[in-house]
Amino acid sequence: MAKHYAVGIDLGTTYSCIAYLNEHGKPVTIPNEEGELSTPSAVFFDEHDILVGNEALRNSVLAPGRIITQSKRFIGETLKRWPVDGKFYTPVDISALILKHLLKNAEHKLGAIDRAVITVPAQFSDIQRQNTIEAGLKAGLDHVDIINEPVAAALCYVLGSEGLWFTELADQQRILVFDLGGGTLDISIVQYKEDEVKVIASGGDLMLGGLDWNDSLIQYLCDKFDQQFRDDPRLDPVSMQQITLDVEQLKRSLSARQKSTINITHAGKKHALEITQTEFEKLTQHLVDRSEKVTRNLLKVNNMGWGHVDVVLSVGGSTRMPMIMNVLKKMSGRTLNSSLSPDQSIAHGAAYYAGMLLSNNDFARAILSSEATARLSRMKQQSVTARSLGILVRDNSNSQRVPHYLMPANTTIPSSITAEYGTIIPNQKRVRLNIVESDDHAPEQYVSLGTVEISPLPAGLPENSPIAVTFSYDLNGRVQVAAKEIVSGKIAHAQIIRPENLAIREVEVSNVHELLAQGANQI
Ligand code: ADP
Ligand code: MG
Repeated sequence: MAKHYAVGIDLGTTYSCIAYLNEHGKPVTIPNEEGELSTPSAVFFDEHDILVGNEALRNSVLAPGRIITQSKRFIGETLKRWPVDGKFYTPVDISALILKHLLKNAEHKLGAIDRAVITVPAQFSDIQRQNTIEAGLKAGLDHVDIINEPVAAALCYVLGSEGLWFTELADQQRILVFDLGGGTLDISIVQYKEDEVKVIASGGDLMLGGLDWNDSLIQYLCDKFDQQFRDDPRLDPVSMQQITLDVEQLKRSLSARQKSTINITHAGKKHALEITQTEFEKLTQHLVDRSEKVTRNLLKVNNMGWGHVDVVLSVGGSTRMPMIMNVLKKMSGRTLNSSLSPDQSIAHGAAYYAGMLLSNNDFARAILSSEATARLSRMKQQSVTARSLGILVRDNSNSQRVPHYLMPANTTIPSSITAEYGTIIPNQKRVRLNIVESDDHAPEQYVSLGTVEISPLPAGLPENSPIAVTFSYDLNGRVQVAAKEIVSGKIAHAQIIRPENLAIREVEVSNVHELLAQGANQI
């Protein structure tokens, strides 16, 4: 039987990282085959081979149509496909290939790995979480757990700092996790109290990340080239692929130096361009402003000010840019905690969580010291839902279907609520409900999670017989539904029929009593 390692994976939009807990309970990043600690989340389809990571990026210059990047931005979009050589790849397929690559490399060091914790943004919806789990299973894992990225970062901070491991932190701390990665800005307020880490609010911008800084640079540089040579590199995918790769290096060097240079080659013409950090900052000021606005807004909608925040954790590779560090310092009025590695802390936090899950398990003793096991088993993590959960009901005034929310966003999970519905006709055979999720800030816009069908109902029920339907979020942030006909106490079969018709999940009957017993007053 495989030895159970505590493995955590940060499956990022642009970079991914894998770590495990060593026997002292310390997270260790497993470098990729090139010795780097994070691996580009990029997949290249050669005629014979599938390449992942740096190798994929390098090969893409000659065949830009064969590389797939940023697949995480599409996870949960059930119709998204990338066509390559007559085959169609889904976001789950691409994520699975990246995970498989990371796992294969880790297995060289550790031996067989059959379970892991994968991180997701706190704002991920039910379908996005489900897809992430599916990608893990498709990559060959037998068991996948999910943890929210800000919780992972906070766990890494709380459990990782040398002193904190042995002594306790101040009794209560509010941690603002500012995670600016490649594709998204995720901001969360995490509370640490008596060995418990809990997200109390989360928000951000799913369409703002380091790539937008790259884009601004690319547009600026191509304009300059076009002005000089009356030839626009944007018209040639091969030139663009090389510029895209080189701009990444240019951006990174501008984090460390006052100015830097890039060579642009297009249509046989070569042009060296210099850009200063100040110019870069001017060019991307609107992106910094957006980051600031989103952060202030999160505090505001949660009735908090910076006085409620004890620590600011900056994570995500893009927080290496001085302009981001500066705006964070300016906003929060404090020095920033830079004890965490922006690229690794989420994977490390996920490895801690994997250790926490294992610490109740006999295997844990085999791989962790007793001190580490004791500390990990005392830690608890709690998350909140990022979205409101509800059902569609008929608005009697105009017969339109409108969402009726049962569980608001920011409810601590696991959590459940039971609602009662009356049957409409005598001898009704089934009840059908449309479940929806919505962003807290735009409740009128919702995403359909699918239909719940409760059937068969016992025969001969009179009209208006009460049916209790329990909606729950489990520890992974997934939605479950259970139903019971109240008079007879009979459990009805409830299943969520996903819009994509592919994944039909059923509630295990053994679970139903437990779910119902939790009752309706948990929120
Ligand atoms: P994600 O989890 O979204 O994939 P990461 O947290 O790994 O993202 O961060 C990746 C982003 O960080 C990329 O956009 C990358 O360009 C950026 N990045 C990494 N190092 C630096 C640096 N030194 N300066 C500026 N940006 C950086
Ligand atoms: Mg990330």
